[in-house]
Amino acid sequence: MPHAFVMNRTDAGTHPTFTISNEIPLHDGNVTIDVKYSAINYKDALAVTNSAPVLRTFPIVPGIDLAGIVSASHDPRWHVGDQVVIAGRGIGERRSGGYASISQQPGDILTRLPEGITLHDAMAIGTAGITAAMSVNALRQHNITPGALPVLVTGATGGVGMHAINMLSQMGFRVTAVTGRPHLTDMLIACGATEVIGRDAVAGPKPLEREQWAAVIDTVGGSILSAAVRSTAYGGCIAMCGNAAGATLELTVYPFILRGIQLIGIDSVNATQTIVDHAWHDAAAAWRGRRLDHMITTIALTDVAEHAHTLMRGTHQGRTVVTIN
Ligand code: NDP
Repeated sequence: MPHAFVMNRTDAGTHPTFTISNEIPLHDGNVTIDVKYSAINYKDALAVTNSAPVLRTFPIVPGIDLAGIVSASHDPRWHVGDQVVIAGRGIGERRSGGYASISQQPGDILTRLPEGITLHDAMAIGTAGITAAMSVNALRQHNITPGALPVLVTGATGGVGMHAINMLSQMGFRVTAVTGRPHLTDMLIACGATEVIGRDAVAGPKPLEREQWAAVIDTVGGSILSAAVRSTAYGGCIAMCGNAAGATLELTVYPFILRGIQLIGIDSVNATQTIVDHAWHDAAAAWRGRRLDHMITTIALTDVAEHAHTLMRGTHQGRTVVTIN
């Protein structure tokens, strides 16, 4: 019997239910997937705890990531037995996602499981890993190469942060990791960080601070991102994707017009499938180069609600993979 974690909306509000039945809300899709693993991203935690309007339709299965095996297909590109992954693409937001043993999705949004990784590895990567890969690619496209100055990575113990550190260090970059949890320094060094600093160390009131970073991958926004922009070196580039520290930036135009800084927004959800497929390839290659098993927690589907609250409290670390079947 299929089982799922479902979010319902009634007159009494929005609430989660764990269901074992044939009544799982599926949305039209020409490929049916036997889901093996999903994950909990920050966005999933917002959805499951009803902290932000992530879910656009009800009832819905949350889970913006999934990994599984095709069990039926009306799309000539996909066949029974194919191992497939999805990260983002609107699942777990506009249509049902990964927290169910069965899923129906359009063939257009599937990526073949990259070689040399398992379905579980794929969810250790997930949206966080492909967002990190897209951020790293943005720096490379803006001619950031390894040199004397380090790349700053904020939100370092989070999913995007740890994958970004891993990828950059394997490419030869020196990486300065910013964390609010200095007791996890050894774990971040094991991910590839060269040095680890506190959130307070990225600060300063001047429109232009001392040039410290060749580039930045920012996952938190707010005052940390503002300070990082002010201390990025001439010609540097900042790839930004998140807002856990705030959605407002306090900046002057000077970093941009006097240092030629580029501020690049990263969106993994609506990026083209080609960009997403490349990001999966790059993220999987980095994972094969250095696995980050010490940053992965695996939980059961029945424990999703409890772990979503842990994510919202910011006391988790790395990636949380959810076993579905
Ligand atoms: P996680 O929840 O795994 O990690 C976020 C990290 O941010 C935490 O581990 C913590 O790291 C840091 N943090 C948390 N709260 C604060 C705070 N108040 N001030 C400063 N730092 C804080 O999330 P992900 O890594 O998966 O995602 C990071 C962000 O990127 C999220 O906002 C997410 O929504 C966004 N995102 C955006 C995507 C896109 O396409 N644009 C795709 C994927 C994610 P530490 O304790 O080490 O400082």
